[in-house]
Amino acid sequence: MAGLSKSRLMSYLQCPRRLWLEKHRPDLARVSAATQAAFDTGHEIGDVARHLYDPEGTGTLVGMERGMSGALRATRAALERPDATPLFEATFERAGLLVRTDVLDRARGRLIEVKASTAVKDEHVTDCAIQSWVLESSAARPAEVLLAHVDNRFTYRGDGDYRGLLVEQDLTAAVAPLRQRVPEWLDGARRALAGAEPDIRIGSRCRTPYECPFTRHCWPQTDYPLTTLPGIGRRLDQLVAAGYTDIRDLPEERVGSGDALRAWRAARSGEPVIDGSAWAALAALGWPRYYLDFETINPAVPLWAGTRPYQQVPFQWSLHVERESGAVDHAEFLDLSGELPARAAATALIEATGSDGPVLTYTAFEKMCLDTLAELCPDLPAALQRLGERLIDLHPIVKASYYHPAMKGSWSIKALLPTLAPDMDYARLDGVRAGGEAQQAFREAIAPGTTAERHAELREQLLRYCAHDTLAMVRIAGFLAAA
Ligand code: SF4
Repeated sequence: MAGLSKSRLMSYLQCPRRLWLEKHRPDLARVSAATQAAFDTGHEIGDVARHLYDPEGTGTLVGMERGMSGALRATRAALERPDATPLFEATFERAGLLVRTDVLDRARGRLIEVKASTAVKDEHVTDCAIQSWVLESSAARPAEVLLAHVDNRFTYRGDGDYRGLLVEQDLTAAVAPLRQRVPEWLDGARRALAGAEPDIRIGSRCRTPYECPFTRHCWPQTDYPLTTLPGIGRRLDQLVAAGYTDIRDLPEERVGSGDALRAWRAARSGEPVIDGSAWAALAALGWPRYYLDFETINPAVPLWAGTRPYQQVPFQWSLHVERESGAVDHAEFLDLSGELPARAAATALIEATGSDGPVLTYTAFEKMCLDTLAELCPDLPAALQRLGERLIDLHPIVKASYYHPAMKGSWSIKALLPTLAPDMDYARLDGVRAGGEAQQAFREAIAPGTTAERHAELREQLLRYCAHDTLAMVRIAGFLAAA
C-alpha cells in the first residue's frame, strides 16, 4: 500500500482535487510568496520549540537523511532506549499513513503539535487527530494531545530567553471524535488518488483553510474573475454554483451594492469611475503636506528585547514633503544595524515632520506604527502622539472617489498607481517591490554572513522601494485634487 503523508491527507480534506494534483501534477503548483513566508515562519517557531522543550539538549531530532523508512527505523530505535528524553520529528506509520510529530514528550506522555498561529484553529484539531490516530497503535501512544501556539502577549526579555513564547492548549478531548474518522478519510484519499482528476468545483475551498497552489490551473482565466468583486465573501460559492466566472456576466441584482456595484459597472464599461468628493477633502488640507510610509518587520520570534511576537517594528520610513509652491522634498530613514531601530526611527521622524502640516498616509498602518514606536520609546509618546493627531488617511478618500477597472477590486497603492501614474508601476523597480520582500531584504541585510556589497545593494533597493511608496502618494493626491 503506497504511503500517504499527513499533509497529503490534509490536502485531501481541503479538496480531493488538490491531493490528486499534488501527487500526479506537482508541476502545476505555484506556491505564493505568502505561503512560502508562512512555511519559513513555521520552521523558525519549530526551531525555538525544540529548545524550549529540550533546554538541556538531551533529546533526539529524527532526521530524514535516510528517507522516510530511515526516519521510521530511527524512531523505533529511539523509543527502545530506556531514557524518556523528548523526540522531535519522530516518525510513525499506520495503515500506510505517515506522520512526523513536532514534539513527543515521553516523560509526560504528551504529543505536542507546534504552530506559528496565535490561536487554535479547526484545521489544527484535525491535524492533531490524524497524528493521534496513527500513534494510538504505537508504543508511543500519548496520554495527552496538545497544541503549542504563539502567545502574542509574550514580551521577549532578550538573551535568547523565549520561555513563554508558546502557550499550550489541551486538545485531548477535542481530537477524540475526529480520530475515529481518520480511516474513512484515508479511504477517500486513496480512492481520489486512484481515479482521474476529480471534478471539484472551485470556490472558497481554494483559500480555506490554506491557499491552494493550483488556482492557476483550476480557475478559469478571465479578466475579471469573481474574486475581484469587492466583498464577495460567502457569495462566491453560490455564484460559482450558478455558473458565473466573470463579474461582467453577473446580472445587476446579483452584484450587491456600494463598492461591488462600482467595480461591476467599471468592469462592464471599461471606464474609471471618478467623483469629485476627493477634491474637497484634499483642498481643505494645509501646507506643507507630508506623505509618510513605514516599512516594518514582524517576526513570530521577536528579534529584540521588549518586543512581542508579530509586533510590527518599523525599521524604515520615507517622507515626501510637498509645499504649496509645488516643490517636493524628500527625507528618509533606514536602520540596517540589526539593533532595535525604534528610537532612531522615532527621533528622526519627529525632527523631519516639523510641528505642523497634515501627514498623509495610505491606510491606518502608519498610525499603528506610531503607536508601536511610542510603546518602545516611553520618553517620546507626547511627540509621537502629536504626530499621530496630524495623520490623514488617503485610503478612504481615494476609495470614496475613484475606481478604475484595472484595479480589479483592490484599492491598494499597487493596484491604484498604474491606473493614474503608469510611469510609476512597481513592476519597474529592481529587487524589493512589495512589503514582504522588504522584510526579507531587511532580514538578509542584518544577517551576520551578508557581505558588505550585498548589504549596500539591499540598502539601495529598500530606499528606492519606500521612497516609491510616498512619491506614489504625492502623485495620487495630485491626481485626485485635479480630477
Ligand atoms: S484550486 Fe481549488 S478546486 Fe483546484 S485543487 Fe485547489 S482547492 Fe481544489
